Amino acid sequence: MNILVKQHKEEVFEMAITRKQIATAKAQETYKNHFDINEVRQFGDYETNLTKLVDDLELTVVNVDIREMFKDNDLVDKTTSGFLLKTNEEHMVVINKNQNLRRKRFTLAHEIGHYLLGHLSDVEFGLTCRNSKSAEGIDIEEIEANTFAAELLVPEELIREWHKANKSPRFLAEIFNVSESVINYRLKNLELI
Ligand SMILES: [Zn+2]
Repeated sequence: MNILVKQHKEEVFEMAITRKQIATAKAQETYKNHFDINEVRQFGDYETNLTKLVDDLELTVVNVDIREMFKDNDLVDKTTSGFLLKTNEEHMVVINKNQNLRRKRFTLAHEIGHYLLGHLSDVEFGLTCRNSKSAEGIDIEEIEANTFAAELLVPEELIREWHKANKSPRFLAEIFNVSESVINYRLKNLELI
């Protein structure tokens, strides 16, 4: 790896520790403001209700075929899972419909993260993309949005409880309706594996 890239990665890593804590706190606050954790336990419905959250936030979400829509230009990377768009003070989440449900849920939670963390608050027009580069750990806002999404979809408190009862990532993925890779990331992150 190029020395400058390596240095940059190390700097981002340091900064990311604090900013990840902030993103986690924001997700916890969001969960608390929009959902009743005791009701979730009572009804046994552990899937974070993103439809309700989007309604509460009055965010517009559209599902489109991104590859088809942007086939004639390079405005949006073709590997994009979704993006948050801001025009005339309005925010809109665009989700690539050609993904499976669990991935779409993560993408939506990720874009809600960009929105609530104010990543587009300083611009009049802008967009944040979730694409193949998002998971590389070099863009701080991508790290923050991923951290936010993981905590929102798989709250620490709940996965700790469930993990005592059943340690199978496949089972936990079903419970929270996320991919097994999100569960594995959570378990590793919380030092449960
Ligand atoms: Zn993003």
